[in-house]
Amino acid sequence: MTSQVLVIGSANADLVVPVDRRPGGGETVLGGDTILSPGGKGANTAVAAARLGADVALLGAVGDDPYGELLKRSLAESGVNTASVRTSDRPTGIAYITVTPDGENSILVSPGANSALRPEDVDLDGAEIVVLSLEIPLETVERAVAEAVEKGVKTLLNLSPAAELSAKTLQGLDVLLVNEHEAAFLLGGEADFPKLLDLGPKAAVVTLGAKGAAVVTADGMTEVPSPKVEAVDTTGAGDAFAGALATALAKGEELADAARKAVKVAAITVTRQGAQPSYPTASELE
Ligand code: ATP
Repeated sequence: MTSQVLVIGSANADLVVPVDRRPGGGETVLGGDTILSPGGKGANTAVAAARLGADVALLGAVGDDPYGELLKRSLAESGVNTASVRTSDRPTGIAYITVTPDGENSILVSPGANSALRPEDVDLDGAEIVVLSLEIPLETVERAVAEAVEKGVKTLLNLSPAAELSAKTLQGLDVLLVNEHEAAFLLGGEADFPKLLDLGPKAAVVTLGAKGAAVVTADGMTEVPSPKVEAVDTTGAGDAFAGALATALAKGEELADAARKAVKVAAITVTRQGAQPSYPTASELE
């Protein structure tokens, strides 16, 4: 496998049910019709990059079941190389999502096959940049970063969902990508973003929702404002940002320029419903 951008991460089937309210313990509530869509932070990121024209592969795992087939098909249809999507004897990961009329969602993830992605599965062959997120075992993420450092492969890690990483792993990152909550998690509640570099990464990007993003390098902090848009669904916006950032970095762009592209891509995704279906192609950006 020789893809420039290698995403190592999760693939999940998203089962979304509209509800008037969520059931309490021991209670049954009837909801609306289930919407099934391809998701998972790894798969979303890979699809976002592929739509933008990146040469991208996903290293991940699905089950030997219809959801696994569906996820592999949708990745391939978007142009993601799926040769390294393993088939596990665990079931495909599923995110059970309820959405209330105010637009708030609550999500229960059953990782299934994603938990079966082991450190020994890591293979960076041909990759120029490896992109990681945290819906897979942490030891697998840590192995991937260690191997990337050894081989001189660039690393971009999206700390989502937030988790404690070893100092060695943080020091192995070229770019740490976090949203405001994840930044606060790392900084003990503070929003002093330049301090993210004290944890070890060479650079950090903080996504700031409708405000855009902040880029922190050894030279200081650059604000990257977002275009003003009418947001209808922000699901998967962070993953789209990660995919767009990786695509630009793989082309050799500077981090701040890459972040300028990523806010444009993410702004388009929030104006459309869904995660992967909302991701734009390179030609739509022009
Ligand atoms: P999510 O969990 O929704 O995928 P996140 O919490 O990881 O996202 P955010 O900072 O909320 O991260 O959003 C990621 C990026 O998406 C932002 O940096 C911004 O570029 C874009 N974005 C999010 N919300 C909006 C919005 N309302 N208007 C324009 N752009 C937005």
